[in-house]
Amino acid sequence: MFEPGLIDTHTHLGDKKFRLDLTEVINRAKIANVEHIVNVYDPLDPTLELTDALEKNSAISHSFGVHPHLASHFDETAKEKLLELIKTKKPVAIGEIGLDLFKGGRSPIQAQRQALITQLQMAVEFGLPVVIHCREAYSQLIDILQNQTFSSLRGVIHFFSDSLETAEHFINTGYFIGIGGPITYPNAERLQAVVRHLPIERLVVETDCPYVAPQQYRGKRNEPAYVRFVVEKIAELKGLTGKDVTRVTRYNAIRLFSLPLTTPPELVYELRDNLYLNITNQCPNSCWFCQRQHNWVVKGHYLKLDKEPAFSEIVRELPADLSGYKEVVFCGLGEPTMRLDMIKRLVPVLRKRRANYIRLDTNGTGNLINGRSIVGELAELFDGISISINAVSREDYNRLCKPAISDRTFESVIEFTQQAVKNFKSVTVTAVDVPGLDKQKLKEFVRATLHVPLRLRSFIPPTL
Ligand code: SF4
Ligand SMILES: [Zn+2]
Repeated sequence: MFEPGLIDTHTHLGDKKFRLDLTEVINRAKIANVEHIVNVYDPLDPTLELTDALEKNSAISHSFGVHPHLASHFDETAKEKLLELIKTKKPVAIGEIGLDLFKGGRSPIQAQRQALITQLQMAVEFGLPVVIHCREAYSQLIDILQNQTFSSLRGVIHFFSDSLETAEHFINTGYFIGIGGPITYPNAERLQAVVRHLPIERLVVETDCPYVAPQQYRGKRNEPAYVRFVVEKIAELKGLTGKDVTRVTRYNAIRLFSLPLTTPPELVYELRDNLYLNITNQCPNSCWFCQRQHNWVVKGHYLKLDKEPAFSEIVRELPADLSGYKEVVFCGLGEPTMRLDMIKRLVPVLRKRRANYIRLDTNGTGNLINGRSIVGELAELFDGISISINAVSREDYNRLCKPAISDRTFESVIEFTQQAVKNFKSVTVTAVDVPGLDKQKLKEFVRATLHVPLRLRSFIPPTL
């Protein structure tokens, strides 16, 4: 199974506080499973250095920009210096840049605005994402970013510290939200509530070291190895495992900065306390909201298979003892009943390996696919079934799911579900909460026609 590493997306390793023991700091990060680090360097900051050790380390990428504190020094010469750095050293981003009005700010607001706008223009010109620093100036920042020139820009709002509404605004305009040490502070209730609500698909983690160490080292020098405390806190807030948060935020950071790291396809993968089997990529539908239409990634798991896996390949990936998982689920990015024979061979192996509960996640097209009713056969194998119906009418279904197998797929899915209700001990019906979904109508339809619980699955826009 894929073991993801942590990515600390915001550090200042060139800071003079690291000058004596940088090698040890980087080694400790490695031991703490930090796979990659983004180092932020400001050419106007005399406390920072861009050393050979930092530049030559392939586990460290760089972002260059002039901090709002130093905006009043951002003259033509400084601009040339920054441009030269960008051209010669190929950073992964421009930043940190932004606005800082904490205690009035250390540079006049007009200078800050000008420095920010100039550097945003550079990011557009070089096609790079931006690392944004903002303190007590979110509305002014939003104002500037809303300018048409910057509408194609992407980036991260580093060290986010504002409201849920502000965070959602940035997410909806394509930005990631950077979460650091303060999330671990006992009095950080507001930030914790914000993180609880935001989709994990839009969060990245950071230390901002040597500053703002997490609660465990509060007041001391911060370093990349401590990014794990941020991850653990997010996991606790969102009811995920540390591994889940590590994997998803790793994938987010790779996308954000186009980092040169790969994510292998997975046949068997973990999420929360469940184990999932990705046994096929075949599906008779082409739902527009499906991650297959986009990047094939679900919660940081890359699910596009090179080929349809053989029985032995799947079994080889299965842990020897499955008793630690709450459920083992046939799911993945494909319709499992496309491989009914494979399901029948695998379920006994799962039982032998002491699986507690085996569930099938299906789109309910199994009868159509196999040319007969297979619900009775499935009921003998599984403890529970979850069926995604997604719509209340054939028209809606065809529009959302674009079934290729039959124009009357919706009717067959409903019939499949009714048969499942008769045959299975546990049936759940699901729908993706896409924009415009008439939830009330769906709930009533499910209650009246199917008499089972409905679970709405959150919609992650495929472009994200
Ligand atoms: S049925 Fe499931 S796997 Fe198939 S396209 Fe729709 S969401 Fe994707
Ligand atoms: Zn910083």
